Amino acid sequence: MLLFTHPAMLGHDPSPGHPESPARLASVLKALESYDLDRRQAPEADRLVIERVHPPGYVEAVNAALRESSHRRVQLDPDTAVGPGSSEAIYRAAGAGIAAVDAVLAGADRRAFCAVRPPGHHAEPLSAMGFCVFNNVAIAALHALEAHGLSRVAIIDFDVHHGNGSQTVAEKDARVLFASTHQAPLYPGTGKLHETGIAGNVVNAPLPPGAGSAEWRAAMARQVLPALDAFAPDLILVSAGFDAHKADPLAQMALDEADFAWAGAQLAAAASRHCEGALVSTLEGGYDLPALARSAAAYLGALQHG
Ligand SMILES: [Zn+2]
Repeated sequence: MLLFTHPAMLGHDPSPGHPESPARLASVLKALESYDLDRRQAPEADRLVIERVHPPGYVEAVNAALRESSHRRVQLDPDTAVGPGSSEAIYRAAGAGIAAVDAVLAGADRRAFCAVRPPGHHAEPLSAMGFCVFNNVAIAALHALEAHGLSRVAIIDFDVHHGNGSQTVAEKDARVLFASTHQAPLYPGTGKLHETGIAGNVVNAPLPPGAGSAEWRAAMARQVLPALDAFAPDLILVSAGFDAHKADPLAQMALDEADFAWAGAQLAAAASRHCEGALVSTLEGGYDLPALARSAAAYLGALQHG
């Protein structure tokens, strides 16, 4: 399995005490230290590839904020700030997914994990949101479709928060399946059952606070995985957030690391059925550091052996 990351992503520091801290990535990388992974440096994303999701005016506004942030913290939304070090992190977080898609589709190693921050799935085409500036997974999806000529790309999102930005991209593009499990009610408030996209290509499985292993695995098994099989993707992308863990401070679901290992095995099997194993996972949330580290390690362990 390939691992795309870069130490510059530790340099993005939204603000002191912010839950989306550099220590998150450090703890994930430490948990993976003993894993046999083909480690690659995440490159900075090409602006034109980002612009498949985010219009040039938005990218320019982000760049202006990043220039300003070289000497002071700049707030992009109430939860999302950039400062010195953010520019390289943000561009490499998007670049990791692009490079992982290129590598996985080239064939030798069909699985990749992008250990990145900031996360991406809340970023809308026209706005930063919820710790996210560019939508890393949506950029990777459109890159796979446009640059590699794939017909169908699936995004599976098991972060505890709904991936509103990814859904915005998918709901008007039948080449993209977006299937999400998430807690509701919870930020950002989207992801209702009736939000189904232009071609039934958006699948939302909201779960109540307190939902645990049985409820979540049932939602995956009855809604997400059947939709994935019916869609028969050429590539599976995963927004791998680990904040549905019972220890996470930002939500109230009750999963543990065994559930993320189960998801890894299920998704690896689906990738084998449909796309010769092609599976790129990208880190999204996860805010209890020990739980995040154990969950990412369990998920990757299952992917490696799945
Ligand atoms: Zn989240």
